[in-house]
Amino acid sequence: MASVYRAPESILGELGIREPRDIHIEAIAEYCGATILYQPLEGSEARILGYRDRAIITVNSAAPLGRRRFSAGHELGHWMCDRGKIAFSCTENMLAREWADDNPEVRANQFSAELLLPQPMFVATAKNLEMTFATVRQLSETFQTSLTATAIRLVEFGSFPAMVICSDAERRRWFRRGPDVPGVLWPHERVSRLTMAHDVLSGMATPPGPTDVSADAWFGHRDARRYAIREDSIRITRDLVLTLLWWKDETQLLDLEDDDNESED
Ligand SMILES: [Zn+2]
Repeated sequence: MASVYRAPESILGELGIREPRDIHIEAIAEYCGATILYQPLEGSEARILGYRDRAIITVNSAAPLGRRRFSAGHELGHWMCDRGKIAFSCTENMLAREWADDNPEVRANQFSAELLLPQPMFVATAKNLEMTFATVRQLSETFQTSLTATAIRLVEFGSFPAMVICSDAERRRWFRRGPDVPGVLWPHERVSRLTMAHDVLSGMATPPGPTDVSADAWFGHRDARRYAIREDSIRITRDLVLTLLWWKDETQLLDLEDDDNESED
């Protein structure tokens, strides 16, 4: 079968979509040969059945709107990226957790993010907004997307240096760094007791909102304790906490940059 893949950006361009409110996932899917149905599903968030050049995507009608849209975009990603390979049935855990490696699930997530949160629209909308969940909520209303997908986009394309980390009580599940956060900053494997994430995971009813914590609560890099970072942590599922770290004070990043320049001499 000839390749059917088209980038989300091209599809949006072909349909003349330029505003977040015009990203109608059902119409876009039809344009790509897939019909979206909403039904109660047990054991998965969404699934796709394809035959030749037509597909039926079924999305769990019990999920919130942002997740339904993201799941639909995810299945459409399978349809466009991995058509004809296998049938997919995608669980909430897969959707929430598989942001780390290169596999069909990650490609489908990426497709969905690029379709529902297109870079040019997102950059313009997120410009100069704080790297917090208040901003993520605002953007997720504009784009009608889930908090997780929106937070990742904010870190990637927002105006300020930040990182998003997903953890459970045992360990860090995955993280994404913004383009201005150097690779030497690698978050601890386990959630430190010194973080807000720890408090939220321990059952704190109301997350404290953006709070300055010592950078060594999150990073083992030398001198980390000399710096503060702004942490915002919220619970996203029964056992998962999502954290935004924002270098509102960029001293740590600037000092690391200086280190780099020195070692190159
Ligand atoms: Zn999938």
